[in-house]
This record gives sequence, structure tokens and C-alpha cells, in this order.
Amino acid sequence: MGPTLAIRVYKFGGTSVRDAIRVMGVVQLIAQARQPLIIVTSAPAGITDLLQGITDHATAQSAVTNLADRFLALVSEVVAPSHQRQLSALVGRQLEKVRAPESDADRAKLMSLGESLMAPILAASLQHRGIRAVALDARELICTDGAYLGGRVVFDVTTKRIQAAVERALAHHGVMVVGGFIAGNAAGETTTLGRNGSDYTASIVGAAVEADEVWIWTDVDGIYTADPRHHAAATLIPEISFRESAEAAYFGAKVVHPFTMWPLLDSQTSLRIKNTLRPDQPGTLICHEPERRGSQLIVSTVDPVVVVTVGGYGLVGVPGVAAKVFGSIAAAGVNVLMISQSSSEHNISFVVHERESESAVSAVNMDLAGWISDEHRVDRISVIKDAAIVTVVGEDMRGRVGIAGQIFSALGEVGVNVMVIAQGSSEYSISIVVKSADVRLATDAILNAKGTGS
Ligand code: ASP
Ligand code: MG
Repeated sequence: MGPTLAIRVYKFGGTSVRDAIRVMGVVQLIAQARQPLIIVTSAPAGITDLLQGITDHATAQSAVTNLADRFLALVSEVVAPSHQRQLSALVGRQLEKVRAPESDADRAKLMSLGESLMAPILAASLQHRGIRAVALDARELICTDGAYLGGRVVFDVTTKRIQAAVERALAHHGVMVVGGFIAGNAAGETTTLGRNGSDYTASIVGAAVEADEVWIWTDVDGIYTADPRHHAAATLIPEISFRESAEAAYFGAKVVHPFTMWPLLDSQTSLRIKNTLRPDQPGTLICHEPERRGSQLIVSTVDPVVVVTVGGYGLVGVPGVAAKVFGSIAAAGVNVLMISQSSSEHNISFVVHERESESAVSAVNMDLAGWISDEHRVDRISVIKDAAIVTVVGEDMRGRVGIAGQIFSALGEVGVNVMVIAQGSSEYSISIVVKSADVRLATDAILNAKGTGS
């Protein structure tokens, strides 16, 4: 499929399709858009949470009532009367299957219901508006292996399937609607891309069809230097590189899912963040070579986290200590967010999500027990709770002398204590750990620091 088709992908998040009024707004946006267009839709806001909350018979019962109310209301308001009976029957059939899940395979099927109902409803509402639209089944497009929930995408299969399906659909339709977040495995079972995975669907589809742009329609104007709801000094970033936005997203700038950038790294496709409620705003363009990036630093946070430190004089000069510590964490299935060891080698600190900290600490305690009791190589494993990672990201930081100094002086001036520091040699970001209670103060101090460009 050549780029001459210039397909564009629009992805609408849950808040953009939360109710009939929002869906009609989305239909309006699509009606004005260039075709061919692929729409990736999330479930209406709150639906996936509701599905995830089903753990027993009682929660399943009340969820079915809730889901039926919301989807039937949508059908009655956004779809042509002649189509309503068919779609209401689809809602009924799908909801009949809702019960407490017993396996991850069941869970994936259950969690996919929101998107798998929303895609045909949105397609029907576009048809009602006179647009030649068709819903495609995401399970037949996006192929994953591994876990049922958050499986790995098998890109070669996925790309071929998407290209073939889109080519077929384009013969008769200008707009194709795909449910985000849902996928299927080689055995034809339903899987998911993990919570908030619809953005990822959009970029997978965009890369497969060599779209010129993938637009992520959401409820904010774009990527800011920090969360604008909490920081008056935060400013909108008009253009940003893939690498930088991936790094910022990973560290908690929650505008797009961190995986979204991956499929586009080797493509000509760029990504644009747009606000459904303020479509005339330019948003943020994520591309390979931003022309108007400026030098503002982005401050994002991960909170709450726990710092675990393994310390002892016996660690100095002993090869294999890091391998032992991180091997033990990996075996416990815990994800390490940040690592720091100074060259004195007396301590290795690592940072994990608070929810995983108990598993991490008991794993190292168990695996290092011999080193603690017999050889006295390790004399403490200490834990700092109620901590937060503050990451400062900026492409422009690379090779810019004095940035770290400005960041740390700013923190010093407002009395924020820095507990751990890490900077990768890519120099795209510096991560520091502070007390949770200091996060807002630290972020404001960095945003307002002289030389950080805001
Ligand atoms: N509906 C799914 C979720 O809430 C996927 C998404 O919204 O991106 O996780
Ligand atoms: Mg969502």
C-alpha cells in the first residue's frame, strides 16, 4: 500500500465518546475530515473500569444493568431508527455473556466488550449522517501472542492483516471504524493490548497503512511541560520528537500511552494530539524532526514509589552483586523504574512502584540471605516509602551544560531533599526521587527555574 493513499487515522478516547452528545460531536468532526479515514475508538469513559470491576455474580448483575443503560441510550440517540433494533439486539447478545471471569482468557473477552460494542455503534451513527462507514473487527486485525491481557503484538502478521482488510474496505467505504485496545491471538481468541491500549491500536494501524498522520483526540489540548491542572507554569508544547515524548510518557505524562510511539519510529507517520472539545486548537505534533520544539523541559512524575537500598562494605569490588540483586527482582516479576549506584559501590538503590514493593523486598531478602548472615557482604536492605520519581525530560538537555545545576539549585532553594538521582547516558532525562509530599513543590521549582526554558 503506497503513501499516495494518504490515509489518516483518528483515535477517540473514552471521554470523547462518553455519551450521545459527545458521540455526535465526534461524528461532526469525522464528517468534516479528509477521507480515507480510519477511526479507532475507545469504549465510552468508565465502561472498561466497570467491566474490570466484575469479580462475582453480584457485580456482574449490576454491571449488566449499567452497561445496557449506557449503550441502549447511545443507540437510541445516535443511530438511525431503522438500525436501532439490530444494534440493540447486538448489545443484548453481548451483555448476555457477562459473568464473573475465571481465567485471563475470560477476562480479555469481558474487558473487550466496551470497544467491541462502540465500534459498530459509531459506524452506524456515521452512516446515519450519510457517511460511507464500516466497522472492522479488531480481533481479526491486531494479532498478539503471550498474555491474554496486554499481549505482545506480532507485527508482521498484524501489518498484513490490516493492509488487506483496509484495501478491501476502501473499495466501498471512505471511513473504517476499529475498536481500540482489543486484539486476537493466533488461535482466534480475544486478547487485549493492556489498559489504555487504544492509543497503541491507533499507531499500529497508522504504521501498517503508512498513514500521513495519526490524530489522538482526547480531552486536553496536547502535551504540556507538566500537568496543567496542578501547575500554573505548565505550557503547551507545539512540537516534540518521538523519542522525547516516549520518554515523557513513560515517566507519567499521561497524555498518550507510552507504547504509542513505538510502531511509528521507523515510519514517515507523525502523531498529533488534539482536543475533541477545542478542535480549532493546533494541539501537539509528535514527529521525527520538530521544527518548533523550543527548549522547555518536561517534568513528569511517577508516584507513589518505594526506594530499596542494598548496602554494605562487602559489596565493594565484588562482581555479580548487581546481577544478583536484579536477577532476584526480575524473578519476582517486579518492574524496576530507576536504578542508582555511586562509584563507591557501598549501595545499590532501585525504585519500584509501591504496589510491587513488598514482592521486591521479600525477594531480595530471601535471595541475599546468605550474603547477609554468613558473609556479611550485605549489612542492610533498607526501604524508603512515600517517595516519588520526578523526571525532567528534554531533547535539548543533551550537551547543555548547567541544566543539572539549575535543577538542583531550584530544588535546594525551595527546600526539597533529593534522595536518589539517575541520569542515563542518552542525556534525554534526569530522574530524581523526592518525598511524595514534595512532588508539586519540586515540579513548580523546576518549571520556574531560570534556564529550564519555561
Ligand atoms: N477502554 C480501554 C481502557 O479503558 C482502552 C482505552 O481506553 O484506551 O483501558
Ligand atoms: Mg481510555
